[in-house]
Amino acid sequence: MFSQTPTLFDALPDPATKETPAAKPVGSKAMRGSKLIAPDSLVAIFEQEYREIRPRAPMPAFDIRFRRFTSLNTTIRLREGRLHVRLSDLLEHAPESVHHSIAHILLAKLYRKPIAPAHSDRYRRHVSSDAVSRQAEHIRQTRGRKRILTAVGHYYDLSEVFDTLNARFFHGLLGKPVLTWSAHHARRMLGHYDAAHNTIVVSRVFDRPDTPRCAIEYLLYHEMLHLKHPVRVKAGRRCVHSREFQAEERLFPELEEAKAYLRRL
Ligand SMILES: [Zn+2]
Repeated sequence: MFSQTPTLFDALPDPATKETPAAKPVGSKAMRGSKLIAPDSLVAIFEQEYREIRPRAPMPAFDIRFRRFTSLNTTIRLREGRLHVRLSDLLEHAPESVHHSIAHILLAKLYRKPIAPAHSDRYRRHVSSDAVSRQAEHIRQTRGRKRILTAVGHYYDLSEVFDTLNARFFHGLLGKPVLTWSAHHARRMLGHYDAAHNTIVVSRVFDRPDTPRCAIEYLLYHEMLHLKHPVRVKAGRRCVHSREFQAEERLFPELEEAKAYLRRL
């Protein structure tokens, strides 16, 4: 990979786990990455409903968070005396009465108590209401969709640059991976090769008329060398830019010029 900080060539633990252009399956760990701690008012609602269901039991601690689910999944778990509740962020702005119903339903399920029909009705009405189902549909579409992969930029066509470099430095022998511009104008990660998806991603910041061709060529050449020299593990250490890799990189004629441009970015 190629990143600006902390060093120009930065070896990360695993490029495959970094930003990848392919979509994560819906509901995967990465999708659920962002967790929003619920406000105290929601904790109070859960405590109230807990009291209703278990009048004499000691009040447990609640850990309630909203997660980016693609559906309206909610979960509750009792772990070491603490109740862990995970709610879809779609429910974050639901009316308070709906939060009461959710708390009631989750706690009743957990403690095997009958679910009050008023609560299940209210929850069902809310979830099937137009606004909520439209929002859920929108989120399903935007989160589940694969990011658009495109090698053709506004000024540079990565596919054409790849072919030129392949002919010039690799006798045309390098198999073409998926080539794509990054979705955002990333400055920290200028380029990387994602082995898991056989994809080279180049930062959009290079897709400008004033980018010298040598800079973009050098960046792509660097990532192509990753394709040619897979990461090796030597004595338990990952060797990303091996000696052979570095030697071959020095063969790039405009190396100094390109590096100087990247430093100024
Ligand atoms: Zn690299």
